[in-house]
Amino acid sequence: MPCRSCHELYAASELDRYLFCPPCRQQIRRRGASWGRIVGLAASVGVAAYVVVAAQPSRPYLFLYALALALTYVLASRIASSLVQGYYRAKAGSRQ
Ligand SMILES: [Zn+2]
Repeated sequence: MPCRSCHELYAASELDRYLFCPPCRQQIRRRGASWGRIVGLAASVGVAAYVVVAAQPSRPYLFLYALALALTYVLASRIASSLVQGYYRAKAGSRQ
């Protein structure tokens, strides 16, 4: 069976349910992860800037803001990563 992205022949058991071979799968995951890091970082910086400007954190609540920042990073990077991976999967599929 040909991989949907690089069109090299693989055994059907080696392809995933999107018909991507292991190297292409890894590449898509890497791209998703690096975009996820960028978007997560940008979102965290945005939230941090907002907190400093608008909320002016006081000491007792500082750990809550840190928690919110960590959560923002994790959520934003996860969402961005899955969006980017979906984008590359769709792109590879339509190029056939
Ligand atoms: Zn491939």
